[in-house]
Order: sequence, then C-alpha cells, then structure tokens
Amino acid sequence: MEQDVIIRGLLFDGCIKVMAISAMDMVKEARKAHGLSRLATAALGRSLMMTSMMGAQLKDAGDRVTTMLKGGGELGNVICTARQGGIVKGYLDNPECELPPAPNGKLDVALGVGWFGELVVVKDLGLKEPYVGRCEIVSGEIAEDFANYFTKSEQQPSLVYLGVRMEAYSGDVLSAGGLLVQALPNCPDEFAEAIEKRATEIERISVRLQGGEVLETILNELFSDMGFELLEKEYPAFKCDCSKERLERVLISLGREELLSMADADGGAEISCHFCNTQYWFTDDELRRLAKECI
Ligand SMILES: [Zn+2]
Repeated sequence: MEQDVIIRGLLFDGCIKVMAISAMDMVKEARKAHGLSRLATAALGRSLMMTSMMGAQLKDAGDRVTTMLKGGGELGNVICTARQGGIVKGYLDNPECELPPAPNGKLDVALGVGWFGELVVVKDLGLKEPYVGRCEIVSGEIAEDFANYFTKSEQQPSLVYLGVRMEAYSGDVLSAGGLLVQALPNCPDEFAEAIEKRATEIERISVRLQGGEVLETILNELFSDMGFELLEKEYPAFKCDCSKERLERVLISLGREELLSMADADGGAEISCHFCNTQYWFTDDELRRLAKECI
C-alpha cells in the first residue's frame, strides 16, 4: 500500500476545492501508541485525518490547529492537534472503550463520541489571540460534525467523508481515507449538487484504498467528468513534538509544594505525554531543581 498522502486539487475550473487523505500508517501509529480499542481506533482515526487535512492548510511553520470533540459519549473527549504538512497528534480519554455494534452492524462511533456537546476548533496562527470556533455536535459520527462545523461556523459549505477500515477480530487497520470538498463563493449550485450525488462512490474510498488502489487514481476516476486538477501532494504522519523540556513546564505548573512532595515521597516522577503516551522520568534532583523555578 502507498505511503500516507494528502492530495489537494480543484474541480469545475476552480469552483470547488478538494482535499483527500490516505492515512493507514497514521492510524496504525495512533492505535499502537495508545492501545486503542476498535471503536477508539475508528473515532480517533477519523478525527486525526480531519485535523491533519486542516493542518495541511496552515501557512506558517509555527501555526497549529486543534480540534476537540466533546460529545459526552463513553470514549470521552477526542483531542487532535496538527501542524503544517498534516503532521498530527491526538488522543481520547478512554482508549480501551468498546461498545456493542450499531444496528447496522458497524462500529457505533456516534454512541462512543456522543452528540450532547460541542466541537471546538482552535487555530493558533501566531497572532495575539488564537481563533476559536465552536459548533454543536450533530451526530457523533465525526465527518458529519465537521461538515456542519465548516458550513455553520466558517460559512464554508462542505462535504466530509472519513473512513477507517479494520480487520473484524484483531482490529488491525487495513486502510484509512478521507475527503473534504468545499465550494468556493459563487460556486453554481449544480456543481455542489453533482458532488452530493456522488456520495455513494465517495464512501467507497477507504474500500478502494484497502484494495490497493492509490489515492490519486481514485480521485482521477471519481471526478474525471468534473475536470479534476491536482495541485499538491503532502505526506502526513502521526508524530508528536513532545520533549522532556516541554513536560518540565507542565511540572512547574503543578507548583513548588507538589514537586517537593513528589521528590520526597516517590523519589521522582514518571510523566507521560497525553498525545503520544511517551513516558518521561524525572529524578528527585530534577524535581527539586524545577521546584526552584516555580513562582
Ligand atoms: Zn508526545
């Protein structure tokens, strides 16, 4: 299977923007890092792909986009952060949660995520204040929720597809694919309608990826009669940017007394990064040094 890729393109002479992702390795890495259940793999995988595509739209190296699904379901909150090039990290609160299948026999991602809360998007573009957008969660299926977010909160009518395919028993990730279609202002209605009519074919993207087809070929075929024009390819990944120095700041925020008590009582502290589960060990001497930096 081809390496993970994001493809950007245009349809109908630039009236419609298309972005597509193939991300099997990204979702596999996330599953391995967090020990995800099948349900959690589907939910986090979908959210990672979407956030990665949003990251690929960032202009500067320091820019970040964070998406938070707070739907009140048993998986808990689903948090992802992406940077330029679609490099993404993410986690959810209950990685081992598994639920009975939905009535249609599929993983019940909607029930796991829940639909009693909001989707929050934070874009840190190096300005004084980050941009924060919010929208109610409408289904918990994630793709629908992001489509609703783009349409309502960013006034950008959008169609979103996100699919993760797994081996039924082992939960091995077989393919992961996504698509974001956005109409530019003044796009004639019939163009958007033509794409909506293609929903069934679009939903087969992850099946076709699993069959070994490459994303570019799939897009060329899917949109052959819509003048698909490829603009750019990028290579996304699940990768965390944590470091021991970064976690020192988290420790300092706990305060002097807490740090000294950890140094005395436990002889050190093991801190793990939420986003990738990497564990960092701080000795009692290191904790005492950090305690001195507390205000
Ligand atoms: Zn990390």
